[in-house]
Amino acid sequence: MTKILVFSLVSAEGLSRSGLELVAAAGQLREKLGDGIVQVALLGPDAESYGEMLIYHGADEVFVASSPELKGYKTDFILAVLEMATRRISPEVILFPADAVGGEIAPRLAYRLETGIVTDCVGFEVNTESGHIHWLRPVYGGKAMTFMVARGPVQIATFRQRAFEPLPEDSSRRGKVQALEVELEPALDRVSLVEEIREKVEGISLDEAEIVIGGGRGIGGPEGFPGLETLAQILEGAVGSSRPPADSGWVPHGKLIGQTGKILSPNLYIAIGISGAPQHMAGISSAKTIIAINKDEDAPIFKVAHLGVVGNWRQVIPALIQACRELVGD
Ligand SMILES: Cc1cc2nc3c(=O)[nH]c(=O)nc-3n(C[C@H](O)[C@H](O)[C@H](O)COP(=O)(O)OP(=O)(O)OC[C@H]3O[C@@H](n4cnc5c(N)ncnc54)[C@H](O)[C@@H]3O)c2cc1C
Repeated sequence: MTKILVFSLVSAEGLSRSGLELVAAAGQLREKLGDGIVQVALLGPDAESYGEMLIYHGADEVFVASSPELKGYKTDFILAVLEMATRRISPEVILFPADAVGGEIAPRLAYRLETGIVTDCVGFEVNTESGHIHWLRPVYGGKAMTFMVARGPVQIATFRQRAFEPLPEDSSRRGKVQALEVELEPALDRVSLVEEIREKVEGISLDEAEIVIGGGRGIGGPEGFPGLETLAQILEGAVGSSRPPADSGWVPHGKLIGQTGKILSPNLYIAIGISGAPQHMAGISSAKTIIAINKDEDAPIFKVAHLGVVGNWRQVIPALIQACRELVGD
């Protein structure tokens, strides 16, 4: 029976959505493999209160490490717990979110386990002849997709947010939630958090938004962005930007989408006044649907967009806001 272990961290905000997404991914992998068990290593102070929730969303077994030392960005402790859990549980596959913590821990764990890793994945297939898992990830800044195979005793992969939808809650599901007893030596903790700078997020955060509205240089200045915020509010989405608005201070840097900014996989991306440079598309190429609004019919973004409007956003956006308002009865 293939053991598929999902890493999930409980933060001050509670259980992250990415943990639930990865449980859904693990369930799909089990189906493709033909057998398996979906396990979760759930870490964080008071994490045990989320064990049942993971079972309701598709996990079979949850191992909880709720030591108070796991509070905050304690990656040395998290790594120590995961290494210990992995050696005890002996999973064949481990899935991580490709976020700040997962992106740091997963390669370090792979090194300790002397095994291969594929990062930044958005899907997978199983080769029926060899039984190998082929991990799907964007390459060349999102211009192409490739399948990769990792060699080694454990398959480790990190996944972009929103690559999978969490399964609906089913409170009739039963599974095992058990404590993972850990002793964390203070000497293990070699990196201290000096200061946490959090960007203030009003409404839905960019990482969690199902609908993202991106504004580019074509917006022309900071005064264009409130209109995009209005559209985002109506659609219950979030506003991001390409590099020029972030560099020019029209929007905070935390809004930057792309190679040097956020990598997102929303259901819908509306790119407004954005040309579609590879460095920008690297952050949004796995959006399920892309709509581009651009006055230049030859803008490269139209090559990747599923739907396009050739026009000046100053005319298109007010009409779109009006239509969306009518649609949602606002
Ligand atoms: C190492 C490196 C890393 C980078 N990382 C990133 C990154 O992470 N993210 C990122 O975004 N960029 C990044 N860039 C910059 C990237 O190469 C592009 O320069 C940038 O994405 C262009 O932004 P833009 O599309 O908003 O602007 P432009 O390319 O200038 O495009 C503006 C678009 O707006 C349209 N437009 C103008 N006026 C209107 C109007 N009134 N109505 C409708 N459309 C209009 C124009 O037709 C044009 O297509 C990086 C570059 C380098 C070298």
